[in-house]
Amino acid sequence: MKKQTRRELAKKYGISYNTLNGRLGLGWSLRKALTYPLNYKKGLKAKAEQAGIPYGTFRDRVQQGWSIEKAMSTPVHKSKYKYAELARGTAIQRATLYSRIKNYGWTLEKALKAEVKVRFRPDFERGVKRCSKCKVELDLKTFFIERKLKNKKSSIYPECRICRTINHKARMRRYRLEIVAHYSNGANKCALCPEARIEVLNLDHINGGGNRERKLIQGKSLWKFLQDAGYPPGYRILCRNCDWLEWIKRKEALHGRKREEAEKKTRAAEG
Ligand SMILES: [Zn+2]
Ligand SMILES: [Zn+2]
Repeated sequence: MKKQTRRELAKKYGISYNTLNGRLGLGWSLRKALTYPLNYKKGLKAKAEQAGIPYGTFRDRVQQGWSIEKAMSTPVHKSKYKYAELARGTAIQRATLYSRIKNYGWTLEKALKAEVKVRFRPDFERGVKRCSKCKVELDLKTFFIERKLKNKKSSIYPECRICRTINHKARMRRYRLEIVAHYSNGANKCALCPEARIEVLNLDHINGGGNRERKLIQGKSLWKFLQDAGYPPGYRILCRNCDWLEWIKRKEALHGRKREEAEKKTRAAEG
């Protein structure tokens, strides 16, 4: 098939060359640019007016996939109050009023009267924020920034760095205790010797492969990873000394195997 120029395509689909170019310039796909009805907005506006529905509502309905008939025949839900007007001149914001009535089911009177609770918000002008845990006003720099990857907004954590770190350490210690208890079958000690000090107890992979796994769990701590995975088998608890001795044993065994292989090769080459 011969490749058609834009001019030919525009003529074929009954739209002007300029319209086609303009639509493609907006990043539309070729199919949409060629087949999207002309004067779409005007047509919708006329239909919305005819049905007595605000244009914005009508357009949203159609874009959400409603049929034109349904969009025209479904009456618009009118809210009981005009929140913006009611909130004007009061200390309460429109959104607060709306949420009090709609979400919490308060009466209008109560919603207008009740005071607005002030949360601990960062005082950006003075560069300080109150920690929600230790209740001390601190420099904004003493707060970690929380990165929310999903909606790509980041915000400041309510607790200061120190409070968060203490919290984190306590949590990690809890995981450690639980995991040590699980993999030592409740003995809380090294599998090879009587060492029982929690600080020197390590997790050991019974069949090796620790480095590969560390790459797999990226960034998470191994303890948290195991917690989330529901204690998979293949681990035991060793103290650092026994861990080190085991490592040496493994290395020596490996070297022994390599030496044997090398000897075999030389023997094969000679004989
Ligand atoms: Zn704090
Ligand atoms: Zn040990």
